[in-house]
Amino acid sequence: MDLFEYQARDIFAAHGVPVLGGATATTPAEARAIAESFGGRAVVKAQVKVGGRGKAGGVKVATDPADAEAKAAQILGMDIKGHTVHRVMLAETADIAEEYYVSFLLDRTNRTFLAMASVEGGMDIEEVATTKPEALAKVPVDANEGVTPAKAREIVAEAKFPAEVADQVADVLVKLWDVFIKEDATLVEVNPLVKTAAGDVVALDGKVTLDENAGFRHADHAALEDSSAVDPLEQAARAKGLNYVKLDGEVGIIGNGAGLVMSTLDVVAYAGEEFGGVKPANFLDIGGGASAQVMADGLEIILGDPSVRSVFVNVFGGITACDAVANGIVQALQLMADRGDEVTKPLVVRLDGNNVLEGRRILDEANHPLVQQVDTMDGAAQRAAELAAAK
Ligand code: GDP
Ligand code: MN
Repeated sequence: MDLFEYQARDIFAAHGVPVLGGATATTPAEARAIAESFGGRAVVKAQVKVGGRGKAGGVKVATDPADAEAKAAQILGMDIKGHTVHRVMLAETADIAEEYYVSFLLDRTNRTFLAMASVEGGMDIEEVATTKPEALAKVPVDANEGVTPAKAREIVAEAKFPAEVADQVADVLVKLWDVFIKEDATLVEVNPLVKTAAGDVVALDGKVTLDENAGFRHADHAALEDSSAVDPLEQAARAKGLNYVKLDGEVGIIGNGAGLVMSTLDVVAYAGEEFGGVKPANFLDIGGGASAQVMADGLEIILGDPSVRSVFVNVFGGITACDAVANGIVQALQLMADRGDEVTKPLVVRLDGNNVLEGRRILDEANHPLVQQVDTMDGAAQRAAELAAAK
């Protein structure tokens, strides 16, 4: 999960990395009030999860509160490389003498952590990295030892930081490493790390990527997620512990187990070629031990996707027997009917495996007008694709 700059700034501050005062605004009037609280001058910065904001006009220095309001009005709503600006951060201004670059990242190729640092930081660091690679120091960091004060001095020496900032930069590196490890990040980048006219070293911009696989160790990380960017159905599925993925076709897919679901996607895409290129709209894996309730939750999510025109339920009964799955389908349709949700999309169901005969009998008996059973996976995929094309 990539963080916004203002979130990275908060995390830096919590770990003792020197940053300047900052607060966010979603309206020009709020921006004006924040600039006032800073004593007038402020940098207005677009909060989007993409680099190069400065060059795109998303970072502007305001000289007084009225100017901050005007600059926020220009930046809010701006499109930066396909990202709309919904929020700006106002930061206290710095009198910049020099701009540096530092980062820690996971170097998968070399199976290690890597520190990168340059005294030629700022908005052209990508160009520096390609045209003057010797100006970007790369120092591997041993995962067990981490960035000790001695390691930090080694990075400072490799990058040839000026003597007068060496101690301060080394101290910042140790604290950024603390961010990297304690927050389970896969990237921590500061560009620019500046030396101010007064000689202080301060992190002016931050980029942090957190490892979502470590989310269970960080109860506070969930709140950092940009809920406006998450698909509402994916969110609903996650809340129910289901694995749901949105795709761009027309056939909704429910299956049990990752292997069966993956092959179902292939079979549907193949069958769909005959019907003008019908493809899977999404998929939902109800897992190996899925109950009737899970089936009901899953169907509700799949049917909530407006691009779905037909649904293919492909289940091989194992731990969860086919009768439980069949009951789940019947209950889900009943639940939605009771709530007044009109279900108009046809369901093609293929059941096989544990207790298949009872499962098929339950569906036959329910005799729901939208549900049809097909005994084979290929046949069912064909039918689901045909229905999706016909609607
Ligand atoms: P990015 O372009 O998305 O990486 O945005 P940055 O936050 O790095 O800002 C771009 C540039 O704006 C920096 O390299 C600085 O030169 C400049 N900048 C950022 N904050 C300040 C500030 O407080 N004062 C001044 N004078 N310049 C700033
Ligand atoms: Mn930057």
